[in-house]
Amino acid sequence: MDKTFFIDLTKCTACRGCQVACKQWKKLPGEETENWGSHQNPKDLNGNTLKLVRFSEVEEDEKMQWLFFPEQCRHCVEPPCLDAMTVPGAIVHDQETGAVVYTELTAKEPDKDLFRMSCPYDIPRLNEETGRVVKCDMCNDRVKAGMLPSCVKTCPTGTMNFGDREDMLELAEERLAKAQEKFPDAELVDADEVRVIYLVQTDPDSYFEMLSADASSIQKGPLTRKQFLAKLGRPFK
Ligand code: SF4
Ligand code: SF4
Ligand code: SF4
Repeated sequence: MDKTFFIDLTKCTACRGCQVACKQWKKLPGEETENWGSHQNPKDLNGNTLKLVRFSEVEEDEKMQWLFFPEQCRHCVEPPCLDAMTVPGAIVHDQETGAVVYTELTAKEPDKDLFRMSCPYDIPRLNEETGRVVKCDMCNDRVKAGMLPSCVKTCPTGTMNFGDREDMLELAEERLAKAQEKFPDAELVDADEVRVIYLVQTDPDSYFEMLSADASSIQKGPLTRKQFLAKLGRPFK
């Protein structure tokens, strides 16, 4: 059955349990990091970090406030990255769970920039050692065995939730109504287009410029996402 994450950012404490749990389940190595003036480490997603808790500090009502954003692939309902592929089998869209899974055949794609360029959320990264392009796979092996994704299982605050899509949409609406009592600008981001739905308490851009696909006309390379999708003959949503 079609699965969905619901991630309630009003509850996240940035403990980074999810980030570590992802590395543990995927057997990915830790990385040497450096102090770059933020608690966010590493600085960005990369070939060995599929889940990253982003930190931002914003001023609201003349008070400084931390915003935390545990980022991962959104498992798009209609994945633009899948349309961009030229190597059959490099990306598998599991019709049972909805997971978008990158395979070892991503290493055969002649233009690996295609993956990242086509993604409205700037998610895929090259693993330099294996030559594969990688990202979160929804822990599809765990889900098929009746378990929760590793990051969801670990989260101690109720931020990360996972289940059948209808149940998650219902939970998201309930939490949104509750959040709006305290944060009138709270919203659900891109809920119809993705299987990882974030509840934000303020403008998504305050968390990160690519949290919402709306901000993705930002120039990331030789083409904007809009230009790229126009080349593929897809509408820009
Ligand atoms: Fe990592 Fe699995 Fe969570 Fe994806 S679902 S971020 S692969 S732990
Ligand atoms: Fe593909 Fe990006 Fe959507 Fe993930 S978020 S399915 S990488 S287009
Ligand atoms: Fe936030 Fe939960 Fe991840 Fe901790 S485990 S950083 S509370 S989403």
